[in-house]
Amino acid sequence: MSTLFLRTLREDPADAEVPSHTLLVRAGYVRRVAPGIFTWLPLGWRVFRKVENIVREEMDAFGAQEVHFPALLPKDAYEATGRWDEYGQTLFRLQDRKGADYLLGPTHEEMFTLLVKSEYSSYKDLPVSLYQIQTKYRDEARPRAGILRGREFVMKDSYSFDLDEAGLQASYEQHRQAYIRIFDRLGLNYVIVSAMAGAMGGSLSEEFLAPCVSGEDTFVRSTDGLYAANVEAVTTPVPAMVDASNTPAAHVEDTPNCETIDELVAFSNASYPRSDSAPWTAADTLKNVVFKLTNLDGTTDVLVVGVPGDREIDVRRLEASVFPATVEPLGEEDFAKHPALVRGYIGPQVLGENSASGIRYLVDPRIVDGSAWISGANSVGQHVYDLVAGRDFKADGTVESVHIRDGDQAPDGHGELVSARGIEIGHIFQLGTKYAQALDLKVLNESGKQQVVTMGSYGVGVSRAVAAVAEQTFDEIGLSWPRSIAPADVHVVAAGKEDEIYDFAETLIADLQSRGVEVLFDDRRRVSPGVKFKDAELLGIPTIVVIGKGLANGVLEIRDRASGQSREVAISDAPAQIASEVQG
Ligand code: ATP
Ligand code: MG
Repeated sequence: MSTLFLRTLREDPADAEVPSHTLLVRAGYVRRVAPGIFTWLPLGWRVFRKVENIVREEMDAFGAQEVHFPALLPKDAYEATGRWDEYGQTLFRLQDRKGADYLLGPTHEEMFTLLVKSEYSSYKDLPVSLYQIQTKYRDEARPRAGILRGREFVMKDSYSFDLDEAGLQASYEQHRQAYIRIFDRLGLNYVIVSAMAGAMGGSLSEEFLAPCVSGEDTFVRSTDGLYAANVEAVTTPVPAMVDASNTPAAHVEDTPNCETIDELVAFSNASYPRSDSAPWTAADTLKNVVFKLTNLDGTTDVLVVGVPGDREIDVRRLEASVFPATVEPLGEEDFAKHPALVRGYIGPQVLGENSASGIRYLVDPRIVDGSAWISGANSVGQHVYDLVAGRDFKADGTVESVHIRDGDQAPDGHGELVSARGIEIGHIFQLGTKYAQALDLKVLNESGKQQVVTMGSYGVGVSRAVAAVAEQTFDEIGLSWPRSIAPADVHVVAAGKEDEIYDFAETLIADLQSRGVEVLFDDRRRVSPGVKFKDAELLGIPTIVVIGKGLANGVLEIRDRASGQSREVAISDAPAQIASEVQG
């Protein structure tokens, strides 16, 4: 450490918002260059490379082959698949001296598809899985979480190519198993959840999430433990249709001073009590929320979403449902262009593609045919009662858009949902033929016909994994690495000024190194033991060996960083004991 390129900091960096960012900077593992752009320093780079190697070993182990693409790519292929536009502001675009358009790759589906197309032409060549561990670029809107969300970051991305659906299933399963081994070896606690395919297109997809309060993803698990999904992918169990044959005809009533759902419910209970004498609740009202959708080609549409009045809209869920369109509230001016929309009193009778207004209307799956609602009467100060779905209004379809609450029913009778936050560390997708079709990747099949290849795409956040491990393992005194990716196996602290301490330490370290143990040696002569201990705690190497006063009595101290437990060991036994401890 007397020569190591390392400066630890006692103060938290001002811009850090999550513990991994704070601690990786304080411990001298990384330094920030610009928002979401970081330099790895020697200790950080060692951790990074260990993560990278684990990922590489497990990919190689099932026969995936490593290649390496440039990050700087021509736009053509991304234009052919629509992603040049679809990525919007997230894509770093640039031009060369001739004015030709380029991008910095955010992910490489297009390039891998074209590569396989250029080399392979027969079903006999398949299956193949190719991967790279490479720097990616995304101009993230909120790069606030340090290494967790970089604008430049390292991803392992792989792609499988198969002749048919069964082949894809097998390749997907191989990746899934490799990911399980990777994240187990990284010491991460994780869950595998159903996910939305999002920007990748395709169908089935799962995410590996590391549960953690700093996580930016919200996921749910069912109380029976058998269902887990990213909230964006949660499907609402559809209630049974209701028999409305005894529901009275819809009737419009005056509802003065009912600006909010609560006021409407209170007023309704006082003035128009339910026929079955149970009280009205917010869940009996149908709330219609107006959005502006912006499509890929820049055109916009008005969308009204109908949800039970006790529910809030989760814009991320709505956006995932209408992808690739983006969603924002409808502004004042746009409201004025649609006289059918009476603000505060919007009711579904005037909505839907077959209505006079033609305004698109989607409802929450709970709004089943036959269910009766209190909703706006499309005139100020009035609401309509006993408004029956399917009888009095017709939506254009259903949409998953409401905020998921703890206690909501899980799909398929798996009990109730409980939510938690997590960091997305990996994502596996069954892409199907989307990219192969767009870029015309075909091979000759057994009967001599051209057949479109079926693909999968799989990502691991390599740099993000470093921060995710830090998030799950840090404590109040610093980082605390699992052995598999710690920058060294043992941190030897020479605690004292005497030459004997340093001489003995050198001998011990030589012995440990001959046994294959990696050592970081705090040999700084002018630094106090207290400061050395603080640094050792901050750096988080799993085993700390203290050589100090005990040396005179023939003992040294071994501390376990994670548990804080320490014990004295005779110096003659020390090398063998330490080696067996760190090597398991
Ligand atoms: P997120 O939802 O967190 O933005 P994503 O779904 O866009 O991620 P993918 O396209 O699935 O990400 O990329 C594969 C993996 O790459 C992710 O599972 C994640 O681990 C990692 N990753 C994605 N974006 C970033 C980023 N900005 N910084 C670091 N790692 C990232
Ligand atoms: Mg993802």
